[in-house]
Amino acid sequence: MVMSESEKGGGGSEAQREAAVLLLGHGSHRSAESSLPVRAAASKLRDDGGFREVRTAFWKEDAHLHHALHTVERPWVYAVPVFTSTGYFTHRIVPRELRASADSLEGYPFRLRILPPVGTRPEMLDLALDRAGDTAARAERREGEGSATDVIVVGHGTRRHPDSGRITRELTRRLDSRWSRGRVTSAFLDEDPSVETALRTLSARRVVILPFFVSRGWHAGTTLPGDLGVEGGRTRFEDRELWYAEPVGTHPELWTVISAMVREAMAGDATAGQVPVENITAGELSTPAARAREDFLRWLARPPAAGRTFLEVRVAPLPDGGFELRHERDGTLDAGVLETRPDPEWAREVAARTDTGAHRPLKTTRDLRRGWRLAPISAQGVWDALGHLYPAAGTHWHLARTGSLSIRTYAEAAGRQTGMFAPVSSLSTEGTATAHRRCCVGRSCLRGVLWPPVGGGAPPPNGTPAADGAGGAVPCPEPCSLLFNAAFEEVRRGSSGQGSSQ
Ligand code: SF4
Repeated sequence: MVMSESEKGGGGSEAQREAAVLLLGHGSHRSAESSLPVRAAASKLRDDGGFREVRTAFWKEDAHLHHALHTVERPWVYAVPVFTSTGYFTHRIVPRELRASADSLEGYPFRLRILPPVGTRPEMLDLALDRAGDTAARAERREGEGSATDVIVVGHGTRRHPDSGRITRELTRRLDSRWSRGRVTSAFLDEDPSVETALRTLSARRVVILPFFVSRGWHAGTTLPGDLGVEGGRTRFEDRELWYAEPVGTHPELWTVISAMVREAMAGDATAGQVPVENITAGELSTPAARAREDFLRWLARPPAAGRTFLEVRVAPLPDGGFELRHERDGTLDAGVLETRPDPEWAREVAARTDTGAHRPLKTTRDLRRGWRLAPISAQGVWDALGHLYPAAGTHWHLARTGSLSIRTYAEAAGRQTGMFAPVSSLSTEGTATAHRRCCVGRSCLRGVLWPPVGGGAPPPNGTPAADGAGGAVPCPEPCSLLFNAAFEEVRRGSSGQGSSQ
């Protein structure tokens, strides 16, 4: 039986063992690539970094940012925005959603410290140098050495926030002082200069395009290479040869940058006399997620001895001790035909894609892939695996059982939507019902809606019950980002008679 990370004892300082790290990313409804670097960094921080509890939360994926603290068992939390620059998300969305997360757990003792975005760290220069250097070396192997190679660092930028481009420009300046093959300049997707304009300021015939993004998501994986006509990692612009580098944030050492910044923050807190372990004694400041774990383990230990179903997962005791998890529809299959592993962390991978390989931004949709088996694992391992399969769901299950789940109406949650999504707060009652039907019912979400729609009234039913009737039902306490996407479509339909997907 492989111990889950929460069962491992050693590694890391005392503060690392007593505090939780919460990685915050953008995520995507469309692409699994978007959240991959954040999830990979979380695994490395646990496996190699000595941090006992590392959670992830996203703007567009499960666990959503407004549920971020619902996943965390330790009350002292260091939150790290895994973004390359400061700007709209780090200044507005991240604090607002974490505040919403804390407010929905009113009375619980979180000490939350939000650190600057990882892109502001000086160590990012080494990752950028690595990415640009690897790409230049690839070009030289193909075309030969001898000619200069310039670099264009491409950031998102935005005219709406002066900070957004500043971090990219600072990285560019520092990279230029270390780059020996040519010159380095910057360009932006949403402010000046564009890549084309930047290219006209450079003289080398070979240019590395270096995306200063966290992932190969929508911008660095689709729009930017698409606009440039990149194929096989390269393209041409007039008489220039352009070589497209991997985004800086996909560097496998990203986790070391995060580790350094969290350790530094911990050391600073220790110097200031704010050491978590001095303030927290076992069981004294128990968080909702920690209480949910205890509740779940008690629930698991009680009959029926044949096992229980939690959403689409069957949990069954093994004759020789421990438990197995498998898809409930694989319940009668011989264990030998299922791919079996004993590591609860594998559940993260299982949850990522459907049987056909499609991205699953929402983990509670009825499309968990089949053909896998987690065994043998401990009761604690069951809890940890379910935390990957259904982030925050165990805490909501517990809070609902104990009558302490905080529910937000559609209107309250819609009031936090800003930017292009702000109009969803004016959606009609009929529009909300249609959005619910298209999203919650259409996607076969297994959560049971508790949030009242526009105009009040009973929450809309999702259809089939969520679990085995023995107490395993999981509620939905407030609309998720996919629901607001559907609501946005309804607003557009109402105003223009047509919709589009975000
Ligand atoms: S809003 Fe609907 S789709 Fe989203 S988590 Fe809740 S029930 Fe599921």
